[in-house]
Amino acid sequence: MERVFNFSAGPSAIPEEVLQEAQRDLFNYPGAGCSVLEMSHRSPSFQSIIDETEATLRRIMNIPDDYAVLFMQGGATLQFAAVAMNLAKRGQKACYALTGQFSTKSMEEGSKWVEPIIVSSSKDKTFSYIPKIDPASIPEDAAYLHICANNTIFGTTYWELPEHGNVPLVADWSSAILGVDIDVTKHDMIYAGAQKNMGPSGMAVVIAKKSLIDREIDPVVPIMLSYKTAMDNGSMYNTPPCFSIYMAGLMAKWVERQGGVPEMEKRNREKAGMLYDVLDNSKIFSNPVALDSRSITNVTFTLPTQEDTDAFLKMAKGRGMINLKGHRSVGGCRASMYNGLPLEGTKKLVECIKDFEAGKRE
Ligand SMILES: *Cc1c(COP(=O)(O)O)cnc(C)c1O
Repeated sequence: MERVFNFSAGPSAIPEEVLQEAQRDLFNYPGAGCSVLEMSHRSPSFQSIIDETEATLRRIMNIPDDYAVLFMQGGATLQFAAVAMNLAKRGQKACYALTGQFSTKSMEEGSKWVEPIIVSSSKDKTFSYIPKIDPASIPEDAAYLHICANNTIFGTTYWELPEHGNVPLVADWSSAILGVDIDVTKHDMIYAGAQKNMGPSGMAVVIAKKSLIDREIDPVVPIMLSYKTAMDNGSMYNTPPCFSIYMAGLMAKWVERQGGVPEMEKRNREKAGMLYDVLDNSKIFSNPVALDSRSITNVTFTLPTQEDTDAFLKMAKGRGMINLKGHRSVGGCRASMYNGLPLEGTKKLVECIKDFEAGKRE
């Protein structure tokens, strides 16, 4: 089978150039005499890999020096608990905005530690828009306000961050980090699972104000969840996910070579614009998301019946486009078009939608 256009929500498409680079290095990393998979994490080679990954992320995201960049294990989901256990005292209030499945899971997980306050929700309309947050609903003594900035399953994005007063803002940017030009300084903490725009799964990148995480936390918290421990040990308290860190570095350097995050956002806007355009002008395909909330990395769409959906997915697959099925909890279709998906892939998808609409079946 030839390589296809992969619209997976994650793990997702990686630029071919990056895969080839990794393939070249896999057998014998330059200067190391062994693969990244085999080298000691305490070796000079690996130290320079992790340092370069961090430095590249700092450059392309304009991360100021007073923010730490941490490589944590357990994906984005483990951060749902880590955020609460690091930033809040047990039983302290913490605010959550519910905009989909991940934000809800984050609230549920956090609730084991904090007293959750739901400050907004778009559940009334199946999470098809980003609800406003009334700043007055955020108590001054809340530990943080948590949002999921790009909702991967429902295809919505916060294009404007909520006002949060002096309460720290924590955002899950898993599915748009490096794909949207995020102003780090408007956040107190950002986290993101790596498998959308930063390579393999299993790792999360945490970008947090040092002053927020440089504190002693409840000793009952597992040490691997402690941001302070990760910060004080250069993300190497234990053996880190070496290969994931290496791949995230390759992905970040690729973004930099392409012109940086603004260029990625421009390309993602072009791809999403083409797709929304054809959906908005269609009589059988439609997108349920409010215009001001549309994601440029995850585009959801529906067809009138399940039969139509199945027929469309089959036709797309036959044309070399995979993983267009919507999340198992919502059905329909979804095209995740992260940095690794070339414009050509979106063009092919648009053509397939037009042909399907014109009555073609393959
Ligand atoms: C994918 C995703 C997650 C979950 O990531 P895991 O690495 O599987 O834990 C959490 N939040 C968002 C917004 C995501 O897109």
